[in-house]
Amino acid sequence: MESQQEAIDKFMEGVKARNMHEPEFLQAVQEVAETVIPYIKSHDIYKGKYILTRMVEPERVIMFRVSWVDDAGIIHVNRGFRVQMNSAIGPYKGGLRFHPSVNLSILKFLAFEQVFKNSLTTLPMGGGKGGSDFDPKGKSDDEIMRFCHAFMSELFRHIGHNIDVPAGDIGVGAREVGFLFGMYKKICNNFTGVLTGKGLTWGGSLIRPEATGYGNVYFAQNMLVQKKDSFERKTVVISGSGNVAQYAAEKVIQLGGKVVSLSDSSGTLFDAEGIDAEKLAFVMQLKNVKRARISSYVETYPHAQFLKGKTPWSIPCEVALPCATQNELDVKAAEQLLANGCICVSEGANMPCTPEAIQAFQKAKILFAPGKASNAGGVATSGLEMTQNSLRFKWSRNEVDAKLKEIMEDIHNSCARYGTDPSGYVDYVKGANIAGFVKVADAMLAQGIV
Ligand code: GLU
Repeated sequence: MESQQEAIDKFMEGVKARNMHEPEFLQAVQEVAETVIPYIKSHDIYKGKYILTRMVEPERVIMFRVSWVDDAGIIHVNRGFRVQMNSAIGPYKGGLRFHPSVNLSILKFLAFEQVFKNSLTTLPMGGGKGGSDFDPKGKSDDEIMRFCHAFMSELFRHIGHNIDVPAGDIGVGAREVGFLFGMYKKICNNFTGVLTGKGLTWGGSLIRPEATGYGNVYFAQNMLVQKKDSFERKTVVISGSGNVAQYAAEKVIQLGGKVVSLSDSSGTLFDAEGIDAEKLAFVMQLKNVKRARISSYVETYPHAQFLKGKTPWSIPCEVALPCATQNELDVKAAEQLLANGCICVSEGANMPCTPEAIQAFQKAKILFAPGKASNAGGVATSGLEMTQNSLRFKWSRNEVDAKLKEIMEDIHNSCARYGTDPSGYVDYVKGANIAGFVKVADAMLAQGIV
Protein backbone atom coordinates (compact mmCIF):
# COMPACT_ATOMS: atom_id res chain seq x y z
CA MET A 1 0.00 0.00 0.00
CA GLU A 2 1.10 3.54 -0.81
CA SER A 3 2.70 5.30 2.18
CA GLN A 4 1.52 8.73 3.27
CA GLN A 5 4.73 10.34 2.03
CA GLU A 6 4.34 8.64 -1.36
CA ALA A 7 0.78 9.92 -1.62
CA ILE A 8 1.91 13.48 -0.79
CA ASP A 9 4.81 13.31 -3.29
CA LYS A 10 2.57 11.94 -6.03
CA PHE A 11 -0.02 14.63 -5.43
CA MET A 12 2.62 17.37 -5.44
CA GLU A 13 4.18 16.03 -8.65
CA GLY A 14 0.86 16.61 -10.40
CA VAL A 15 0.47 20.10 -8.91
CA LYS A 16 4.07 21.00 -9.86
CA ALA A 17 3.63 19.80 -13.43
CA ARG A 18 0.67 22.12 -13.93
CA ASN A 19 2.02 25.12 -12.00
CA MET A 20 5.71 24.86 -12.64
CA HIS A 21 6.48 28.58 -12.50
CA GLU A 22 4.49 29.38 -9.39
CA PRO A 23 6.79 28.87 -6.37
CA GLU A 24 4.65 30.68 -3.78
CA PHE A 25 1.55 28.76 -4.84
CA LEU A 26 3.43 25.45 -4.66
CA GLN A 27 4.75 26.38 -1.19
CA ALA A 28 1.23 27.07 0.10
CA VAL A 29 -0.17 23.86 -1.42
CA GLN A 30 2.71 21.71 -0.11
CA GLU A 31 2.07 22.85 3.47
CA VAL A 32 -1.60 21.95 3.20
CA ALA A 33 -0.96 18.64 1.41
CA GLU A 34 1.43 17.46 4.14
CA THR A 35 -1.21 17.78 6.83
CA VAL A 36 -4.44 17.18 4.91
CA ILE A 37 -3.50 14.12 2.80
CA PRO A 38 -2.86 11.92 5.89
CA TYR A 39 -6.25 13.07 7.21
CA ILE A 40 -7.99 12.23 3.91
CA LYS A 41 -6.34 8.80 3.88
CA SER A 42 -7.76 8.00 7.30
CA HIS A 43 -11.30 9.24 6.53
CA ASP A 44 -13.22 7.03 4.10
CA ILE A 45 -15.77 9.68 3.05
CA TYR A 46 -13.06 11.66 1.22
CA LYS A 47 -11.40 8.68 -0.48
CA GLY A 48 -11.48 8.74 -4.29
CA LYS A 49 -13.27 12.10 -4.38
CA TYR A 50 -10.22 14.10 -5.50
CA ILE A 51 -11.27 16.95 -3.23
CA LEU A 52 -7.77 18.42 -2.81
CA THR A 53 -7.05 18.01 -6.54
CA ARG A 54 -10.20 20.03 -7.21
CA MET A 55 -9.32 22.61 -4.53
CA VAL A 56 -5.92 23.47 -6.02
CA GLU A 57 -7.49 24.38 -9.36
CA PRO A 58 -9.07 27.86 -9.21
CA GLU A 59 -12.72 27.88 -10.26
CA ARG A 60 -11.89 30.90 -12.43
CA VAL A 61 -8.93 33.24 -13.07
CA ILE A 62 -9.53 36.64 -14.61
CA MET A 63 -6.57 38.60 -15.98
CA PHE A 64 -7.01 41.99 -17.58
CA ARG A 65 -5.32 45.11 -18.92
CA VAL A 66 -5.45 48.26 -16.80
CA SER A 67 -4.51 51.39 -18.77
CA TRP A 68 -4.27 54.72 -16.99
CA VAL A 69 -2.69 58.16 -17.40
CA ASP A 70 -0.33 59.71 -14.83
CA ASP A 71 -0.17 63.37 -13.76
CA ALA A 72 2.38 64.14 -16.48
CA GLY A 73 0.01 62.77 -19.16
CA ILE A 74 2.03 59.57 -19.69
CA ILE A 75 0.12 56.37 -20.38
CA HIS A 76 0.82 53.28 -18.25
CA VAL A 77 -0.34 49.70 -18.63
CA ASN A 78 -0.61 47.39 -15.61
CA ARG A 79 -1.94 43.89 -15.25
CA GLY A 80 -5.06 43.25 -13.18
CA PHE A 81 -6.10 39.89 -11.70
CA ARG A 82 -8.91 38.22 -9.79
CA VAL A 83 -8.48 34.59 -8.73
CA GLN A 84 -11.86 33.06 -7.84
CA MET A 85 -10.59 30.01 -6.03
CA ASN A 86 -13.49 28.28 -4.29
CA SER A 87 -17.16 29.10 -3.75
CA ALA A 88 -18.31 25.91 -1.98
CA ILE A 89 -19.32 27.66 1.25
CA GLY A 90 -20.11 31.19 0.07
CA PRO A 91 -19.33 33.95 -2.43
CA TYR A 92 -15.64 34.43 -3.24
CA LYS A 93 -14.09 36.71 -0.63
CA GLY A 94 -10.60 38.12 -0.27
CA GLY A 95 -8.50 41.20 -0.71
CA LEU A 96 -6.88 43.07 -3.57
CA ARG A 97 -3.11 43.62 -3.45
CA PHE A 98 -1.44 46.46 -5.35
CA HIS A 99 2.33 45.87 -5.32
CA PRO A 100 4.98 45.56 -8.04
CA SER A 101 5.69 41.95 -6.98
CA VAL A 102 2.11 40.82 -7.74
CA ASN A 103 1.85 37.93 -10.20
CA LEU A 104 -0.31 34.87 -10.70
CA SER A 105 1.75 32.70 -8.33
CA ILE A 106 1.41 35.14 -5.44
CA LEU A 107 -2.31 35.67 -5.99
CA LYS A 108 -2.99 31.93 -6.31
CA PHE A 109 -1.14 31.25 -3.06
CA LEU A 110 -3.12 34.01 -1.35
CA ALA A 111 -6.43 32.82 -2.82
CA PHE A 112 -5.69 29.22 -1.80
CA GLU A 113 -4.87 30.26 1.78
CA GLN A 114 -7.97 32.44 1.81
CA VAL A 115 -10.23 29.41 1.18
CA PHE A 116 -9.00 27.76 4.40
CA LYS A 117 -8.87 31.01 6.35
CA ASN A 118 -12.42 31.99 5.45
CA SER A 119 -13.65 28.50 6.29
CA LEU A 120 -12.03 28.83 9.75
CA THR A 121 -13.84 32.12 10.48
CA THR A 122 -17.12 30.16 10.90
CA LEU A 123 -18.75 32.58 8.42
CA PRO A 124 -20.14 31.63 4.97
CA MET A 125 -17.40 32.95 2.68
CA GLY A 126 -15.58 31.27 -0.20
CA GLY A 127 -12.04 32.26 -1.16
CA GLY A 128 -10.56 34.62 -3.73
CA LYS A 129 -7.82 37.18 -4.17
CA GLY A 130 -6.85 39.76 -6.72
CA GLY A 131 -4.79 42.80 -7.41
CA SER A 132 -2.27 44.32 -9.73
CA ASP A 133 1.45 44.85 -10.24
CA PHE A 134 0.73 48.60 -9.90
CA ASP A 135 3.06 50.32 -7.39
CA PRO A 136 1.18 52.90 -5.30
CA LYS A 137 4.44 54.17 -3.73
CA GLY A 138 5.10 57.80 -4.66
CA LYS A 139 1.85 58.19 -6.63
CA SER A 140 -0.39 61.22 -6.12
CA ASP A 141 -3.97 60.84 -4.84
CA ASP A 142 -5.22 61.66 -8.35
CA GLU A 143 -3.06 58.94 -9.90
CA ILE A 144 -4.29 56.43 -7.32
CA MET A 145 -7.87 57.43 -8.13
CA ARG A 146 -7.38 57.07 -11.89
CA PHE A 147 -5.72 53.69 -11.44
CA CYS A 148 -8.48 52.40 -9.11
CA HIS A 149 -11.19 53.63 -11.49
CA ALA A 150 -9.48 51.99 -14.47
CA PHE A 151 -9.07 48.74 -12.48
CA MET A 152 -12.75 48.66 -11.49
CA SER A 153 -13.92 49.54 -15.00
CA GLU A 154 -13.05 45.90 -15.87
CA LEU A 155 -13.41 44.11 -12.52
CA PHE A 156 -17.03 45.25 -12.00
CA ARG A 157 -18.43 42.64 -14.39
CA HIS A 158 -16.94 39.76 -12.40
CA ILE A 159 -17.97 40.72 -8.85
CA GLY A 160 -21.15 41.34 -6.86
CA HIS A 161 -22.36 41.15 -3.26
CA ASN A 162 -23.51 37.54 -3.80
CA ILE A 163 -20.75 36.64 -6.28
CA ASP A 164 -17.38 37.94 -5.17
CA VAL A 165 -16.61 40.59 -2.53
CA PRO A 166 -13.08 42.06 -2.72
CA ALA A 167 -11.42 44.10 0.04
CA GLY A 168 -8.00 45.52 0.88
CA ASP A 169 -4.59 43.92 1.25
CA ILE A 170 -1.06 45.31 0.79
CA GLY A 171 -1.31 48.65 -1.06
CA VAL A 172 -5.10 48.75 -0.84
CA GLY A 173 -6.60 50.57 2.14
CA ALA A 174 -9.55 52.85 2.85
CA ARG A 175 -8.54 55.37 0.17
CA GLU A 176 -8.35 52.75 -2.60
CA VAL A 177 -11.53 50.95 -1.49
CA GLY A 178 -13.29 54.32 -1.72
CA PHE A 179 -12.19 54.93 -5.32
CA LEU A 180 -12.97 51.33 -6.32
CA PHE A 181 -16.44 51.50 -4.75
CA GLY A 182 -17.18 54.87 -6.42
CA MET A 183 -16.55 53.46 -9.88
CA TYR A 184 -18.46 50.22 -9.19
CA LYS A 185 -21.49 52.18 -8.02
CA LYS A 186 -21.36 54.50 -11.01
CA ILE A 187 -21.14 51.73 -13.62
CA CYS A 188 -23.63 49.37 -11.97
CA ASN A 189 -25.98 52.03 -10.62
CA ASN A 190 -26.27 49.87 -7.56
CA PHE A 191 -25.37 50.60 -3.92
CA THR A 192 -24.52 47.22 -2.42
CA GLY A 193 -21.91 45.73 -0.12
CA VAL A 194 -19.73 44.65 -3.05
CA LEU A 195 -16.51 45.61 -1.27
CA THR A 196 -15.53 45.51 2.40
CA GLY A 197 -13.28 47.91 4.26
CA LYS A 198 -15.61 50.73 3.26
CA GLY A 199 -15.71 54.10 5.03
CA LEU A 200 -17.87 54.33 8.14
CA THR A 201 -20.45 56.68 6.59
CA TRP A 202 -21.09 54.51 3.51
CA GLY A 203 -21.45 50.95 4.75
CA GLY A 204 -18.17 50.22 6.51
CA SER A 205 -17.94 48.40 9.83
CA LEU A 206 -16.42 49.68 13.04
CA ILE A 207 -13.29 47.69 14.01
CA ARG A 208 -12.63 46.58 10.38
CA PRO A 209 -9.39 48.63 10.14
CA GLU A 210 -8.21 47.24 13.49
CA ALA A 211 -9.43 43.68 12.96
CA THR A 212 -6.45 41.85 11.41
CA GLY A 213 -3.95 43.24 13.94
CA TYR A 214 -6.28 42.91 16.93
CA GLY A 215 -7.33 39.41 15.81
CA ASN A 216 -3.72 38.27 15.59
CA VAL A 217 -3.05 39.43 19.13
CA TYR A 218 -6.29 37.81 20.39
CA PHE A 219 -5.16 34.57 18.78
CA ALA A 220 -1.68 34.78 20.36
CA GLN A 221 -3.34 35.59 23.68
CA ASN A 222 -5.46 32.42 23.37
CA MET A 223 -2.29 30.41 22.76
CA LEU A 224 -0.50 32.02 25.72
CA VAL A 225 -3.48 31.33 28.00
CA GLN A 226 -3.04 27.59 27.27
CA LYS A 227 0.41 27.97 28.84
CA LYS A 228 -1.05 29.99 31.74
CA ASP A 229 0.78 33.01 30.34
CA SER A 230 -0.14 36.45 28.93
CA PHE A 231 1.22 39.52 27.10
CA GLU A 232 1.86 41.32 30.38
CA ARG A 233 5.45 42.68 30.47
CA LYS A 234 6.44 40.65 27.38
CA THR A 235 8.87 42.19 24.89
CA VAL A 236 7.23 41.98 21.47
CA VAL A 237 8.90 42.35 18.09
CA ILE A 238 6.64 43.33 15.19
CA SER A 239 7.58 43.57 11.51
CA GLY A 240 5.77 45.78 9.04
CA SER A 241 4.24 49.19 9.72
CA GLY A 242 1.02 49.01 7.71
CA ASN A 243 -2.48 48.43 8.91
CA VAL A 244 -1.87 44.96 10.42
CA ALA A 245 1.33 45.91 12.27
CA GLN A 246 -0.11 49.18 13.61
CA TYR A 247 -3.17 47.62 15.19
CA ALA A 248 -1.27 44.55 16.44
CA ALA A 249 1.02 47.03 18.24
CA GLU A 250 -1.98 48.93 19.64
CA LYS A 251 -3.51 45.76 21.11
CA VAL A 252 -0.18 44.50 22.53
CA ILE A 253 0.29 47.86 24.30
CA GLN A 254 -3.28 47.68 25.68
CA LEU A 255 -2.56 44.18 27.02
CA GLY A 256 0.57 45.35 28.87
CA GLY A 257 3.26 44.19 26.42
CA LYS A 258 6.23 46.24 25.24
CA VAL A 259 6.52 46.71 21.46
CA VAL A 260 10.14 47.39 20.47
CA SER A 261 10.08 47.28 16.67
CA LEU A 262 8.25 48.04 13.44
CA SER A 263 9.70 47.88 9.94
CA ASP A 264 9.23 48.56 6.24
CA SER A 265 11.01 47.48 3.07
CA SER A 266 13.96 49.79 3.77
CA GLY A 267 14.73 48.59 7.30
CA THR A 268 13.75 48.19 10.95
CA LEU A 269 12.90 50.71 13.60
CA PHE A 270 14.20 49.56 17.03
CA ASP A 271 12.98 51.50 20.05
CA ALA A 272 14.39 49.74 23.13
CA GLU A 273 12.29 51.95 25.45
CA GLY A 274 9.12 50.67 23.79
CA ILE A 275 6.71 52.20 21.29
CA ASP A 276 3.96 53.42 23.63
CA ALA A 277 0.48 54.67 22.69
CA GLU A 278 1.71 58.21 22.04
CA LYS A 279 4.58 57.10 19.78
CA LEU A 280 2.22 54.73 17.98
CA ALA A 281 -0.17 57.63 17.27
CA PHE A 282 2.83 59.42 15.76
CA VAL A 283 3.60 56.35 13.58
CA MET A 284 -0.01 56.19 12.40
CA GLN A 285 0.10 59.86 11.38
CA LEU A 286 3.43 59.27 9.65
CA LYS A 287 2.32 56.22 7.69
CA ASN A 288 -1.36 56.84 7.04
CA VAL A 289 -1.52 60.60 6.56
CA LYS A 290 1.96 61.72 5.51
CA ARG A 291 2.63 58.36 3.78
CA ALA A 292 6.29 58.65 4.88
CA ARG A 293 8.86 55.93 5.59
CA ILE A 294 9.26 54.46 9.09
CA SER A 295 12.90 55.67 9.18
CA SER A 296 11.73 59.24 9.82
CA TYR A 297 10.57 58.15 13.34
CA VAL A 298 14.14 58.67 14.60
CA GLU A 299 14.03 62.37 13.65
CA THR A 300 11.36 62.88 16.33
CA TYR A 301 12.56 60.17 18.73
CA PRO A 302 16.37 60.27 18.39
CA HIS A 303 17.00 57.66 21.12
CA ALA A 304 15.56 55.02 18.74
CA GLN A 305 17.67 53.28 16.08
CA PHE A 306 16.92 52.68 12.42
CA LEU A 307 18.57 49.44 11.27
CA LYS A 308 18.89 50.07 7.55
CA GLY A 309 18.21 47.06 5.33
CA LYS A 310 17.63 44.80 8.39
CA THR A 311 14.68 42.70 9.52
CA PRO A 312 13.69 42.81 13.23
CA TRP A 313 14.35 39.13 14.02
CA SER A 314 17.73 39.64 15.72
CA ILE A 315 16.14 41.82 18.43
CA PRO A 316 15.67 39.77 21.63
CA CYS A 317 11.98 39.19 22.41
CA GLU A 318 9.51 36.75 23.90
CA VAL A 319 6.84 37.19 21.23
CA ALA A 320 7.33 37.81 17.48
CA LEU A 321 4.51 39.00 15.23
CA PRO A 322 5.54 38.95 11.54
CA CYS A 323 3.06 41.40 9.97
CA ALA A 324 4.79 42.45 6.73
CA THR A 325 4.71 39.97 3.84
CA GLN A 326 5.33 36.41 2.61
CA ASN A 327 8.65 34.67 3.36
CA GLU A 328 10.00 37.55 5.43
CA LEU A 329 11.20 35.24 8.24
CA ASP A 330 13.62 32.46 7.20
CA VAL A 331 15.23 29.62 9.15
CA LYS A 332 18.26 31.72 10.16
CA ALA A 333 15.94 34.33 11.63
CA ALA A 334 13.92 31.58 13.34
CA GLU A 335 17.06 30.15 14.95
CA GLN A 336 18.07 33.59 16.15
CA LEU A 337 14.61 34.17 17.67
CA LEU A 338 14.80 30.80 19.44
CA ALA A 339 18.33 31.45 20.70
CA ASN A 340 17.10 34.77 22.12
CA GLY A 341 14.32 33.03 24.07
CA CYS A 342 11.26 33.67 21.88
CA ILE A 343 8.33 31.53 23.06
CA CYS A 344 5.54 32.56 20.68
CA VAL A 345 5.31 33.46 16.97
CA SER A 346 1.94 34.47 15.54
CA GLU A 347 1.69 35.34 11.85
CA GLY A 348 -0.14 38.59 11.05
CA ALA A 349 0.85 38.53 7.38
CA ASN A 350 0.06 35.73 4.92
CA MET A 351 2.78 33.03 4.92
CA PRO A 352 5.53 35.27 6.39
CA CYS A 353 7.54 32.30 7.76
CA THR A 354 9.33 29.96 5.36
CA PRO A 355 8.58 26.20 5.73
CA GLU A 356 12.05 25.67 7.28
CA ALA A 357 11.43 28.45 9.82
CA ILE A 358 8.11 26.84 10.81
CA GLN A 359 9.85 23.48 11.21
CA ALA A 360 12.42 25.09 13.53
CA PHE A 361 9.66 26.61 15.72
CA GLN A 362 7.75 23.35 15.86
CA LYS A 363 10.87 21.30 16.64
CA ALA A 364 11.55 23.66 19.56
CA LYS A 365 7.86 23.18 20.57
CA ILE A 366 7.21 26.90 20.98
CA LEU A 367 3.78 28.38 20.22
CA PHE A 368 3.44 28.95 16.48
CA ALA A 369 0.29 30.22 14.72
CA PRO A 370 -0.07 30.12 10.93
CA GLY A 371 -1.54 33.23 9.28
CA LYS A 372 -4.58 31.43 7.90
CA ALA A 373 -5.72 31.06 11.52
CA SER A 374 -4.12 33.99 13.31
CA ASN A 375 -4.76 36.71 10.73
CA ALA A 376 -8.31 35.57 9.95
CA GLY A 377 -9.76 38.37 12.09
CA GLY A 378 -9.55 40.80 9.16
CA VAL A 379 -11.66 38.79 6.77
CA ALA A 380 -13.93 37.67 9.63
CA THR A 381 -14.76 41.31 10.31
CA SER A 382 -15.28 41.79 6.58
CA GLY A 383 -17.84 39.01 6.93
CA LEU A 384 -19.43 41.01 9.76
CA GLU A 385 -19.44 44.08 7.48
CA MET A 386 -21.30 42.03 4.84
CA THR A 387 -23.83 40.95 7.48
CA GLN A 388 -24.43 44.55 8.58
CA ASN A 389 -24.82 45.63 4.92
CA SER A 390 -27.42 42.89 4.33
CA LEU A 391 -29.26 43.87 7.50
CA ARG A 392 -28.93 47.59 6.60
CA PHE A 393 -27.79 48.03 10.18
CA LYS A 394 -24.73 49.10 12.12
CA TRP A 395 -23.30 47.37 15.17
CA SER A 396 -21.40 49.32 17.87
CA ARG A 397 -17.64 49.12 18.31
CA ASN A 398 -18.04 46.90 21.36
CA GLU A 399 -20.44 44.56 19.58
CA VAL A 400 -18.07 44.02 16.64
CA ASP A 401 -15.03 43.67 18.89
CA ALA A 402 -16.83 41.09 21.04
CA LYS A 403 -17.76 39.08 17.93
CA LEU A 404 -14.16 39.29 16.66
CA LYS A 405 -12.84 38.03 20.01
CA GLU A 406 -15.31 35.16 20.00
CA ILE A 407 -14.41 34.20 16.41
CA MET A 408 -10.66 34.20 17.21
CA GLU A 409 -11.31 31.97 20.21
CA ASP A 410 -13.40 29.63 18.04
CA ILE A 411 -10.60 29.46 15.46
CA HIS A 412 -8.08 28.75 18.20
CA ASN A 413 -10.24 25.95 19.56
CA SER A 414 -10.80 24.41 16.09
CA CYS A 415 -7.02 24.35 15.55
CA ALA A 416 -6.51 22.74 18.95
CA ARG A 417 -9.23 20.17 18.21
CA TYR A 418 -7.55 18.94 15.01
CA GLY A 419 -3.92 19.71 15.88
CA THR A 420 -3.26 18.38 19.40
CA ASP A 421 -0.87 15.40 19.50
CA PRO A 422 -0.86 12.70 22.22
CA SER A 423 1.79 14.62 24.21
CA GLY A 424 -0.54 17.63 24.38
CA TYR A 425 1.50 19.77 21.94
CA VAL A 426 -0.72 21.75 19.59
CA ASP A 427 0.40 21.82 15.96
CA TYR A 428 -1.63 24.87 14.90
CA VAL A 429 -0.54 24.44 11.26
CA LYS A 430 -2.02 20.97 11.07
CA GLY A 431 -5.07 22.03 13.09
CA ALA A 432 -5.81 25.05 10.88
CA ASN A 433 -5.36 23.13 7.64
CA ILE A 434 -7.59 20.22 8.65
CA ALA A 435 -10.29 22.34 10.32
CA GLY A 436 -10.37 24.66 7.28
CA PHE A 437 -10.42 21.71 4.88
CA VAL A 438 -13.21 19.70 6.51
CA LYS A 439 -15.89 22.39 6.15
CA VAL A 440 -15.10 23.13 2.50
CA ALA A 441 -14.64 19.45 1.62
CA ASP A 442 -17.98 18.48 3.18
CA ALA A 443 -19.73 21.23 1.20
CA MET A 444 -18.04 20.05 -2.00
CA LEU A 445 -19.08 16.46 -1.31
CA ALA A 446 -22.68 17.54 -0.75
CA GLN A 447 -22.75 19.61 -3.95
CA GLY A 448 -21.37 16.84 -6.18
CA ILE A 449 -18.87 17.07 -9.03
CA VAL A 450 -19.23 20.64 -10.24
N1 GLU B 1 -6.58 40.79 2.72
C1 GLU B 1 -7.07 40.32 3.98
C2 GLU B 1 -6.67 38.87 4.17
O1 GLU B 1 -5.58 38.49 3.76
C3 GLU B 1 -8.54 40.62 4.18
C4 GLU B 1 -9.45 40.09 3.11
C5 GLU B 1 -10.91 40.53 3.26
O2 GLU B 1 -11.24 41.23 4.19
O3 GLU B 1 -11.67 40.10 2.39
O4 GLU B 1 -7.35 38.07 4.74
